[in-house]
Amino acid sequence: MILLDGKQTSAAIKVEIASAVTEIKKQGKRAPHLAAVLVGTNGASMTYVGAKVKACELVGFSSTLIDLPVETTEHELLVQIHALNENPEIDGFIVQLPLPKHIDEQKVLMAVHPDKDVDGFHPMNVGRMALDLPTFLSATPYGIMELLERYKVPTSGKHVVVIGRSHIVGRPMSILMSQKRPSGDATVTIAHSRTTNLEKLTLEADIIVAALGIPEFLTAEMVKPGAVIIDVGITRVVDESKKKGYRITGDVDFESISKIASYITPVPGGVGPMTIAMLLKNTLLACERHASK
Ligand code: NAD
Repeated sequence: MILLDGKQTSAAIKVEIASAVTEIKKQGKRAPHLAAVLVGTNGASMTYVGAKVKACELVGFSSTLIDLPVETTEHELLVQIHALNENPEIDGFIVQLPLPKHIDEQKVLMAVHPDKDVDGFHPMNVGRMALDLPTFLSATPYGIMELLERYKVPTSGKHVVVIGRSHIVGRPMSILMSQKRPSGDATVTIAHSRTTNLEKLTLEADIIVAALGIPEFLTAEMVKPGAVIIDVGITRVVDESKKKGYRITGDVDFESISKIASYITPVPGGVGPMTIAMLLKNTLLACERHASK
């Protein structure tokens, strides 16, 4: 079994990005600048945004955190987004999800200018992705594709089962892996909460991408020996033995499946760190595009 080490791979990507930033600065240009908008005090969201800001510092990017109170209205948030769209000093920005219930998430994501949408969530960028056009790929699927590519995991002609059809993970993953591209050319089945006989599908899969958010859902009985396992899940499970009172658990029973898989991502240290690295990569791309205009 080969561990698809997202921590190590993302560190290598960050070194590449840092050296590109050094080059940009050498040419007398300003560093790429990422802004993050956080509404409210959701613990996991604060952790994610904090990690993104820290990663910016590490590679030499500028970063701005816009921390808004939970009672921020939809209108106030949209005003912030328009200001970021117009600000020439900001190359790209993200709005950390989930947003408080009184704010229409779709409306907010649509308001982000596609050229600054480094999360790749805007319909224009999702559409471009579906049509094989250059775009900002959403960071988690992009990170998985990069991981598969760097480890040279064979995907051409393989049967992939993606579990989960969310707009940010499952759906784009199913599209990317079916495309004619590196780490693509696969035959893809997308499964979801209404799928019947999931085990029959997963037992036939050469590659399984588990993105449903149910801790340790995928067990060894559901996996063909030699399969490639990508675990996207991140769930906080109560664990009194930990200082924080919880541990992070994936959607895969790593203990049993790692014994039969050919490749597997750990949680933590697999897909998670790759997501942040690809957000940085998208921001670098946004900066390069911005500078060439
Ligand atoms: P989501 O809740 O939006 O979607 C879950 C999907 O799973 C749905 O499409 C649903 O139909 C499907 N599903 C639910 N129960 C199922 C079942 N019993 N059988 C088959 N399918 C089922 O979730 P999401 O935003 O795609 O996130 C999924 C998981 O990935 C979560 O744990 C989330 O925290 C994690 N995540 C991790 C990263 C990362 O960087 N590693 C990024 C995004 C999300």
